[in-house]
Amino acid sequence: MECQLKITLTEQRKEKPASDKLGFGVHFTDHMFTMDYTEGKGWHDPQIVPYSPVTLDPAAMVFHYGQTVFEGLKAYRNKEDRAWLFRPDQNFKRLNRSLSRLSMPLIDEDFMLEALKQLVATEKEWIPTESGTSLYIRPFVIATEACFGVRASHTYKLIILLSPVGAYYAGGMKPVKIYVENHYVRAVRGGTGNAKTAGNYAGSLKAQEEAKEKGYEQVLWLDGIENKYVEEVGSMNVFFKVNGEVWVPELNGSILEGITRDSTIHMLKDWGVPVVEKRISMEDLYEAYTKGELEEAFGTGTAAVISPIGEMSWNEHKMVINNAQIGELTSKLYDQMTGIQYGLVEDKFGWSV
Ligand code: PMP
Repeated sequence: MECQLKITLTEQRKEKPASDKLGFGVHFTDHMFTMDYTEGKGWHDPQIVPYSPVTLDPAAMVFHYGQTVFEGLKAYRNKEDRAWLFRPDQNFKRLNRSLSRLSMPLIDEDFMLEALKQLVATEKEWIPTESGTSLYIRPFVIATEACFGVRASHTYKLIILLSPVGAYYAGGMKPVKIYVENHYVRAVRGGTGNAKTAGNYAGSLKAQEEAKEKGYEQVLWLDGIENKYVEEVGSMNVFFKVNGEVWVPELNGSILEGITRDSTIHMLKDWGVPVVEKRISMEDLYEAYTKGELEEAFGTGTAAVISPIGEMSWNEHKMVINNAQIGELTSKLYDQMTGIQYGLVEDKFGWSV
């Protein structure tokens, strides 16, 4: 697809950070993509411009009612020094689902993919090459109209930022301790849980902070109606291996449809591992645990890819999973998924772009 962008290159290139000083989302590349929307005119003026602050009216609706959505994906540099994206079409599809939920104008997915390719090509030298590092891509859309009315904005801005990020497991993969959250909820059915919108994350911080104070790294979110069924872990989807079968919470409107979740399900099925998408109650998990059948647990998401769970605390119950060691399936999934992302193993699913 043809993608006509205006490109203005910077005259002041930034110094690139050393690969062991990357961290997550703190360094930004020299350029960004921007595009504007005006009601009646549609999306217009797509361009690549030098990275710079944006000026907004302080009455811009995004500041007041949080009409905004975002995405997160990564670019990797493989052994032939080519830049690869992992299933980027899925991110633009999800962006459109989020936009629709927040009453925001949809984007042309094919056009956006071509624009992203051009942006990544422009910034290719920013993709770090050390093992485990990547270029994190953050597309987002904000409501820009200055108005205090509670209604959808008539103008928007879409921006894509790029940020070189360090290896998530720089100190080696380590199973995490999880606090099963039974007071705060992340999302409810009919709400915005399956949209990637800022409010879901702002509302999750308090629980995360309190869990940290209690000595846990992440919270396990339960459903917002009965406080009974498992939904997500931190900002990742969650999987359990129970007696040889893999259980994953079924998509119900309050769970974000993770792309790593979908890829994991495909990969497991391809290996002949039985996968069941269903409602999973904490009671069921605890029962499996007491019978010695809860074999592995892990989270999935773009940032960590696969994150092993070593312990879960639920009310007065403490469950130590697989002796708090990384499970065999967890580790195989991590190796295969990152293998495809870095072009180290055959991409039999055709996920790399
Ligand atoms: N759940 C939430 C709430 C998230 O923010 C994310 C990260 N996008 C995920 C799950 C995992 O999704 P993905 O695999 O697409 O990164």
